[in-house]
Amino acid sequence: MARKAADKSIETPVVEHREHARGRRVLFVSSEVVPFAKTGGLADVVGSLPRALMKLGCEVAVVMPKYKNISPEKYKLKLEVKGIPVPMGMGEMTADIYSTRLGDTNGTVYFIQNDRYFDRDGFYGTPEGDYHDNAERFAFFSRAVLEMLKAIQWFPEILHLNDWQTGLVAAFLKTLYQKAHHYQNIRTLFSIHNMAYQGLFPKYVLPMTGLGWEEFSHEKLEFYDQVNYLKAGLVYSDALNTVSERYAEEIQTEEYGHGLQGVLKDRASELYGIVNGIDYDEWNPATDKEIPAQYTVKNHDQKTESKKKLLLEQNLTYNPNTPVIGLISRLTDQKGLDLIAEIIQDFLAMDVQFVILGTGEPKYHLLLEELRGKYPSKLSVALKFDNRLAKLIYAGSDMFLMPSRFEPCGLGQMIAMKYGTIPLVRKTGGLADTVENLSPDGKKGTGFVFEDYKGEDLLFILKRATEAFHQPKLWTELVQRAMKQDFSWDASARKYLEIYGKILKK
Ligand code: ADP
Repeated sequence: MARKAADKSIETPVVEHREHARGRRVLFVSSEVVPFAKTGGLADVVGSLPRALMKLGCEVAVVMPKYKNISPEKYKLKLEVKGIPVPMGMGEMTADIYSTRLGDTNGTVYFIQNDRYFDRDGFYGTPEGDYHDNAERFAFFSRAVLEMLKAIQWFPEILHLNDWQTGLVAAFLKTLYQKAHHYQNIRTLFSIHNMAYQGLFPKYVLPMTGLGWEEFSHEKLEFYDQVNYLKAGLVYSDALNTVSERYAEEIQTEEYGHGLQGVLKDRASELYGIVNGIDYDEWNPATDKEIPAQYTVKNHDQKTESKKKLLLEQNLTYNPNTPVIGLISRLTDQKGLDLIAEIIQDFLAMDVQFVILGTGEPKYHLLLEELRGKYPSKLSVALKFDNRLAKLIYAGSDMFLMPSRFEPCGLGQMIAMKYGTIPLVRKTGGLADTVENLSPDGKKGTGFVFEDYKGEDLLFILKRATEAFHQPKLWTELVQRAMKQDFSWDASARKYLEIYGKILKK
């Protein structure tokens, strides 16, 4: 049984939070941040949580790699410091530090530039696979973050680390920088956005990181005779959190812990679950410029305009009585693609249209292309990453499919609800925390939820949802309830602030 994750239910009044927050200095460290680089929800979170914390009074900055796609002209990058030395195990590298504003806020985003590591297409690899030197790239990034603080002469109280790419920051801080002036008082919070990605590398990379072999033990970075960057973050950070309460419990079990459940159980008293929010400045059908007709809960019939445009673009015929089901996802087993593959032919035998946008495992690209050939009037498939099309799908679909095997938080279901698009989800992680199954009398609930990871159970809710779609009153009420849900960042940002306060008291 999972132990209960640390208590996160303390509610402090907003005013008091402002007092706690005043002057609190936080640096977010992340390998992706909206709008500069995005492959998934991590980028959304680090693009928006800092803004919410600033509203509460924190002083927040963000640091990420300067990838090739980040145009200095477009983002008005300014050179802060040139050629700072970054010690690596095999010698010294250098980094240039650039900066810009985080949107219209006072927050700064810092970029770490080194052409050898980051001047290439893609963030972690190419469609053919991960880059062979990712261990070195993210060891460099992690070390450069700490060296940057000296160079810019700004020392945060909290380093807020995110996922395996930043795990070594915590390890470096507690070992190599343990006695360094200005670094001793920095505290770390490590946010787990997905346990499935751990940054596992052969042990021979360890000397390159600059850490000694004493770190290669079961209590530290070693994991089945490999080096595990995520584990570095988990053992060395002052506190941990993940992005929903349910996932915080789940990852302490064998089924969801990906081999690290023991480490997480040991740290259960410092492991928090905080659900992600949505940035409603970015995701809002009332203001969205990418959709043909804006709408709110009062005139959500305007969704029809988006539905028409979406279907036209995707070469499908519009029919008001045929529900459109959207899927925007990484095409992987995690996201339930194997389950969809199992039932898709039965599903497409129903009176439905299915619009898919995603990229991922080659086997799913092949399968979906084949199915598109077979069902041209029912299925459209866009195998790419496309923010504009994503918005049109959120607005133009009637339902949004997310049958994940596991889901740390999931943003798609929350965005869908805001756009009045009913989520069809599996009861796991953040999906379980944010979507309520439609009650038998139809008076409660915001979507359709199935429990067991079985094709027949998924097919069952797809049938139930299409039946409900044909009952206009029930459907309208369901859409309105979904649209009225509030997943804004405010409440979650306050919870982060409480954790910062706790670890600073340590
Ligand atoms: P994860 O981070 O596990 O991929 P989330 O649901 O947390 O899943 O976040 C996914 C984010 O990425 C959402 O904002 C979703 O709209 C977006 N997204 C996923 N695939 C695509 C795509 N192919 N094109 C555009 N946006 C996408």
